[in-house]
Amino acid sequence: MKITEVRAVYPNYRYVVPSWRTHFWQIVVRVETDVGAVGLGYGGGGVAGVEIVNRHFRELLLGREINNPADIADAWDHLYEQSLPYGRKGLAIMALSGVDLALYDLLAKAENMPVYRLLGGVQKSSILAYATGPDSEAYRELGFRAHKFPHRWVGNADYETAAAAAANARQLYGPDARIMVDCYMSWDAEVTVRMADILSEYNLYWYEDVLTPDDLAGQADLRAVAAPTLIAGGEHEFTHFGFADIARANALGLWQPDITWCGGITAGLRIIDLARDAGIPVSPHRGAEVWGLHLVAASDWADFAEYHSDHIRSPRDVLWLDEPEPEDGYIAPSDRPGFGVTLNEEML
Ligand SMILES: [Mg+2]
Repeated sequence: MKITEVRAVYPNYRYVVPSWRTHFWQIVVRVETDVGAVGLGYGGGGVAGVEIVNRHFRELLLGREINNPADIADAWDHLYEQSLPYGRKGLAIMALSGVDLALYDLLAKAENMPVYRLLGGVQKSSILAYATGPDSEAYRELGFRAHKFPHRWVGNADYETAAAAAANARQLYGPDARIMVDCYMSWDAEVTVRMADILSEYNLYWYEDVLTPDDLAGQADLRAVAAPTLIAGGEHEFTHFGFADIARANALGLWQPDITWCGGITAGLRIIDLARDAGIPVSPHRGAEVWGLHLVAASDWADFAEYHSDHIRSPRDVLWLDEPEPEDGYIAPSDRPGFGVTLNEEML
């Protein structure tokens, strides 16, 4: 089938707090074909991402044949190469992610199968999910068996706040549960060394984004200090080229590509291949959302799905309808065609 139209839209988000992270600046990409099949994808980059898709990627995609995953990979390579002078990382790849996911949705719908089947079928029928957010007790009551709490370093009192949060989570979830902390680049090397000592008794699974993504050597140095807790990261890295740098630097003990940012499923598959070769586990950022979930379900390597739980304390926009929800701490993609979700058109 031939691509006849490509259109990106920035949704009308209603619940916007003074932080772009509320809705991650996510965009919707729609691809139409000459056989009537339509694909929808979810990317990043905000209005800048929309412009990249509508003014550049669109002209490169019109008339292209998409009949199998290899055609999608070819389209990905073409868009990557053509956007290379201004792209490679960040906004352009976030926009490319939306295109790639729309093409996967399109192809799977044309074949009348879920995306995970296009990727070779399910390797696991349900996936352990973890709840991300500050409300440790509420997530436990919802049935979650694993949990990641946020921690922001402000000053010395925060050694205590981190220990208290870790102790609370460990007590709520039990001795064997995976408990993680995301410090969102607010720690530094010195803080991480001291935290590793203070938090060791709580046996956390990982410390996430302790430094900035540019400091690969610094993170590599901290791995031994933190062990057996893993130094995790990758939501701010892009494509298999970026993760190859992480692998070469031995920077991280667990990789967290965001499938709607890092280059979609095409990049996700390549990143997972690198990780398998390096023996590094992969747990996609926001992996409980369908875009990562289908990939995790079909993967022999990626596992453990992140579920963002902010809406428990504040309202949020529902852009995608029929998203699967975790049950008893586990989640699975639906068997509907494509990614199995419907766009809430009222938000466009
Ligand atoms: Mg994070």
